[in-house]
Amino acid sequence: MDEPPRLSAEELQSLYWDILERCVNGRTEGHRCPECSGELTCELEEDFQVKIECAACRRTITAQVG
Ligand SMILES: [Zn+2]
Repeated sequence: MDEPPRLSAEELQSLYWDILERCVNGRTEGHRCPECSGELTCELEEDFQVKIECAACRRTITAQVG
């Protein structure tokens, strides 16, 4: 399987922004990876920190939202 392309934190945040926002609003289920359409595992942690992991392309993102 190919490695996900290297993107800066800013690029990732804008690419995943819609998903990050929904996770912060409590919707952590049913999201699809904007890069590969794979299934995403999203976790909302303390202080509006969101962790996203794609099961397909192995992209992982941790972002502070809000
Ligand atoms: Zn993916």
